[in-house]
Amino acid sequence: MIDFRLSEDQKKLQMKAREFAIKEIIPVSRKYDQSGEFPRDVLQKAFDQGLMNTIFPESIGGPGLGILDNCLLVEEIAAADPGITTSLFDNCLGAEPILIGGTVEQKDTFLRPLTEELKFIAFATSEPGMGSDVAGIATTARLEGDEIVLNGRKMWITNGGVATFMSTFCRLEGTKRHHGITGVVIPMDTEGVRVGKPIPKMGHKASNTVMVRLDEVRVPKENILGESGKGFPIAMQTFAHTRPTIGAFACGMARASMEYAIAYAKRREAFEDKIGNFQSIQFMIAEMKINLDAARLLTWKAAWDADHGRDNTISASIAKAFAADYGMKTASDALQIFGGFGYTTNYLIEKLFRDAKLYQIYEGTSQIQRMIISRYLLTKYVPIFDKTFS
Ligand SMILES: Cc1cc2nc3c(=O)[nH]c(=O)nc-3n(C[C@H](O)[C@H](O)[C@H](O)COP(=O)(O)OP(=O)(O)OC[C@H]3O[C@@H](n4cnc5c(N)ncnc54)[C@H](O)[C@@H]3O)c2cc1C
Repeated sequence: MIDFRLSEDQKKLQMKAREFAIKEIIPVSRKYDQSGEFPRDVLQKAFDQGLMNTIFPESIGGPGLGILDNCLLVEEIAAADPGITTSLFDNCLGAEPILIGGTVEQKDTFLRPLTEELKFIAFATSEPGMGSDVAGIATTARLEGDEIVLNGRKMWITNGGVATFMSTFCRLEGTKRHHGITGVVIPMDTEGVRVGKPIPKMGHKASNTVMVRLDEVRVPKENILGESGKGFPIAMQTFAHTRPTIGAFACGMARASMEYAIAYAKRREAFEDKIGNFQSIQFMIAEMKINLDAARLLTWKAAWDADHGRDNTISASIAKAFAADYGMKTASDALQIFGGFGYTTNYLIEKLFRDAKLYQIYEGTSQIQRMIISRYLLTKYVPIFDKTFS
């Protein structure tokens, strides 16, 4: 059976997030975009209201929500401010490798403290020399006695400058490609961890993005996630679980862009008529709604797959690619409807346009999602008419 209705609890969660977005985020969104300051006060309020760490299980003090629940929540928050949402959601990204590959003790040590007070955990695969090619990680690790010693640089680390822990992927010395990739949790106050200045960005300015240098960083072997050298599948499964949420981010941003465009089209006049009466504008708005609804359904499907323990690698890539690409198109078309005013900093659409671009880049670019989908189609997909075409 297929049922597209949300449960009463999900509707309540959606409304709670919507009210939070309207009351606590929209009034300060512009301020944080202009200053680039980390929105700690907003995150503290979100934490106090149970809107952070949502996927943390109840066994470690979290609310134990599913990925679909998380998608409902982040769509609302991202509609108000994508950058603040990136900061808010990052704990779920940083926690995911531990939820997937960690022991009960590791979950208790690294995640429970995040449910007790506002603290952050970052996620680090990317490096200055690689982002898309996770098997190309160059940060090294060597096992020495009871410790694992890390050396390298991690790039673009969201919340890296404010984090207590960082879920890090590195490679055992002397290994190549997928073999030897190892997940390790690094406490950020460990000797040898050095955090750079926030990287100036085009959008998502309210999120903290830094480079982290690791020089002879020694952490106990107990911090290794799963077996050393077998971390690549943990990283890939992490992305499969978090990509639906990026789809939901893009839906929130696209929904807000569409709503701003509708409001503007209803009041702006040209050629002695409201521009909303011109068919080319009407069709642009209709396209926005078509793509938003399609993106949301793909996102919910990918999240539902993950919540039901199904391999959601492909559905997550489809959802993320579609929502990100059409989110970008929606933001661009919405800005077009604003004409010259859309190109000024007076209207929020300019900010959403800048913010939209990141969805096509982080957590796997739109090209990488297509690579994953096409690889599946060419190697594993079983054609329905295989006999006919062979
Ligand atoms: C604001 C921000 C926050 C981020 N936060 C984090 C974080 O918290 N943790 C983290 O680990 N990373 C983070 N990232 C990094 C992000 O995931 C990478 O930037 C992204 O994966 C792309 O990697 P890259 O920048 O190295 O681009 P590259 O991998 O160098 O790619 C460059 C271009 O080539 C294309 N390309 C690469 N390979 C192929 C291929 N095989 N086929 C076709 N096209 C290809 C890409 O699509 C892209 O267009 C963040 C990035 C940004 C900008």
